[in-house]
Amino acid sequence: MKSTRREFFGHDLANPCLHQHLRKIDAELAQATRQAGCLYCLIGVLHSANYKRKPRGGQKECLEELRHSFCCDQDGCRKRHTPPSVRFLDRRVYWGVIVVLVSAAHHGITPERMRVLREALGIDRRTLERWRQWWLGTFVRTPFWKVARARFMPLLCEKTLPLSLGQAFQIARPGQLLQLLKFLAPITTGSIPLERCC
Ligand SMILES: [Zn+2]
Repeated sequence: MKSTRREFFGHDLANPCLHQHLRKIDAELAQATRQAGCLYCLIGVLHSANYKRKPRGGQKECLEELRHSFCCDQDGCRKRHTPPSVRFLDRRVYWGVIVVLVSAAHHGITPERMRVLREALGIDRRTLERWRQWWLGTFVRTPFWKVARARFMPLLCEKTLPLSLGQAFQIARPGQLLQLLKFLAPITTGSIPLERCC
């Protein structure tokens, strides 16, 4: 890991290209969701019902981003469909890539170095602890992980998630961080609280 304050596993979190890639992948995931139509009534057409978010960390300013989302056009259904995302992980206010990389780094560096990284990204200690508990407690119990973990042989160490996932994906290699985020994207759907809907 290099010493640049916002750099993790060779990735500069402030790099606009990284965020452009993530936006592009999210747009493709959204398009696939829209084309599939309503999964509830099976006849509805999905209309855009995006909402705005301001994910923290990485970029200098807290820029407004659109989270893709759709609503069914059929009366009596109107169900919301939120596509998978490589930018937004669960309901966290930080970029998903930051939640993954900072949580992974937490397993491998000294407390002092972690303090410096946290302060560079504006992440307080309690937030980092909540992330740790989410990976080790909530994530490992998700139906997604119970199925997905079988694809790793040998089995990944669940006590060092998401570092063990990052190592399995070799995220320091070009393109591999995006592959890891795509792998995690299924857990990002349907977790948005209703009050944020249209
Ligand atoms: Zn519908």
